[in-house]
Amino acid sequence: MLKPLLLLCAAAAGAGWYAALPPRAAPLPPAPAGLTQPVRGAIHVHSNRSDGTGDLDAIAAAAAEAGLQFIVFTDHGDATRKPDAFRYRSGVLCIDAVEISTEHGHLVVLGLPQSPYPLGGEARDVLEDAARLGGFVIAAHPESAKPELQWTSWDSTLAGLEWLNADSEWRDETGWTLTRAMLSYPGRPTESLASLLDRPVSALDRWDALTRTRRIVGIAGSDAHARIGFRSLGEPYDAGSSLHIPSYQQVFRLFSNALPGTALTGDAAVDGLAVIAAIRAGHVYSTVDALGGPAAMSFTATSGTATAAGGDVLPLSGPIALRIELQAPADAQVAVIKDGSVLETRTGALVELTEPAAPGVYRVEVTLPAAPGDPAIPWIVSNPIYAGRDPAEPPPAPRPRATSFAELYKDGPAAGWVVETSPASVARIDEIKAVGGLQLSLRYGVGGAASAGPFAAFVMPAGPELQKFTQLTFVGRADKPTRVSVQLRSPAGPEGERWHRSVYLDPEPREVTVYFDEMTPRGPTSQPQPNLASVQAVLLVLDTINTPLGGNGTLWIDDVRYAR
Ligand SMILES: [Zn+2]
Ligand SMILES: [Zn+2]
Repeated sequence: MLKPLLLLCAAAAGAGWYAALPPRAAPLPPAPAGLTQPVRGAIHVHSNRSDGTGDLDAIAAAAAEAGLQFIVFTDHGDATRKPDAFRYRSGVLCIDAVEISTEHGHLVVLGLPQSPYPLGGEARDVLEDAARLGGFVIAAHPESAKPELQWTSWDSTLAGLEWLNADSEWRDETGWTLTRAMLSYPGRPTESLASLLDRPVSALDRWDALTRTRRIVGIAGSDAHARIGFRSLGEPYDAGSSLHIPSYQQVFRLFSNALPGTALTGDAAVDGLAVIAAIRAGHVYSTVDALGGPAAMSFTATSGTATAAGGDVLPLSGPIALRIELQAPADAQVAVIKDGSVLETRTGALVELTEPAAPGVYRVEVTLPAAPGDPAIPWIVSNPIYAGRDPAEPPPAPRPRATSFAELYKDGPAAGWVVETSPASVARIDEIKAVGGLQLSLRYGVGGAASAGPFAAFVMPAGPELQKFTQLTFVGRADKPTRVSVQLRSPAGPEGERWHRSVYLDPEPREVTVYFDEMTPRGPTSQPQPNLASVQAVLLVLDTINTPLGGNGTLWIDDVRYAR
């Protein structure tokens, strides 16, 4: 008597559970003639080389199952690991990139070679190093609910941002939505993950604001780890967590990045470069495949004889004809966004409209009526077409040339200079002959336990003239690419106060200028910029932010002076 009742209860509960599952993705009508399926892939994927749970082969196999053609791996690192060559695994093109932690958030960097020293520290320095090394830099999870994971250096020369980051979307959710998604995950995993997505308003607003002044590429970052994602831990994840939810395959089925202009040849070396070039150019749109797909879109704008696609600059020579063609259900809503505001929303799979010949930034968001989220997550998001924009980015305005100087060191003995090091590090100053007199050779070795904060520093007296000046200049070179922290130190407070600006040196001698108003605190200080009245020492510091532990080398320094 009891048994059938239990079975009945279980069946009723099961039916209720089934009825409560999120709806399946809608089937799409056939693609319009001429619209082909783009190459699709996942960007921002962690393997067990950092805090992911899968190895490269297993992750590639999961991507193949999900119908993707490429993966961009972004294990946490400082870019000193030599990246793997482009390679096909399970038919999926694998691109080895890196996620770098800076003091202003995380960066996903594609196309970097092995860096000669660790990349880290301030965002502006990592961006400068990545640009010198030829990398393409994307702000990861820029608007994460976790403040320490947000990107906070928007004034710098970022090349891209994640308008969508899956990990941020899980972190946003609490309470019933999350519980329901966890309950329905075993039955309909991809749709359950999709039910957690909302339109990431602040990231999209940020993107729109940035595109008003420069080109910046938007992508959807999977941030896939296959670790329990429904939690509020920091990043990297702690290794104790072993529940592999959501799985790589389900995250890969959730959304992807489509490269409409790219064709793969099967030659990994060629295809890897082509995929990175397409992302760099902004020839990419994102699709939330869990809502319907695989989606295909063509977005172009024509003015006179010139035609541009998403990511491109369109030179203006007449009215702008915008054309959006989709493989989409008839009730898809196509919003054309101009300069961050919705210009027009139309329904259907073909949208054509004409705009006057005036500068503007146009992008497209396509939404399906049944989409989850509040506000609803868009189904397709294009990159912008920059109409009437100068294709060359305006260079930053140069600071005026200095006209007044005070000498700190030139051609003589290093009067008053001393070295300071952590216990297991070494430093030595020598005067050596150079063209036109003497210069200083500064030799260092940085060693010891990373936890002890190893450093080697060359310290010169600041002298009484400092307060009258605005910058420090010197001629410097290094035996190899090196990043040196130039610091001003005041004895104020129990530990002293320091402000710094890091500079790049290599075997090519160059004049380096450090502006005092660009310096930032190292450790606690009483004010954000150097207190010049109390500064007593100028330091050149090598530490493990940008010097490998166990690394050593030589700097050559001459003509140290204050300027204004
Ligand atoms: Zn991150
Ligand atoms: Zn990540």
